Amino acid sequence: MRRSKKAMVRVPATIYFKHAKNEKGNRQVCVYAVCDLERTVVGPIWGHTDRAVKKAVSELTRQCTCPAKFHNPQAYEGHRAQKRT
Ligand SMILES: [Zn+2]
Repeated sequence: MRRSKKAMVRVPATIYFKHAKNEKGNRQVCVYAVCDLERTVVGPIWGHTDRAVKKAVSELTRQCTCPAKFHNPQAYEGHRAQKRT
């Protein structure tokens, strides 16, 4: 784990690896990101890749009302369906 002294701008977030139905009714893997401070939830972001996780946390930073400049994915919940290629 990386440690940063600029801890105040980084708020931990929890990533949930889930499935959800898309508009066609197909089950697809997706991620949700939850801010540990404000409990703001974003998602679903489709995919279980590192890219999907990054997108989820950047979307969380955009939508969350907490003062964080970054949300740091710290805890992971659920079953991850695929690894990055
Ligand atoms: Zn936040």
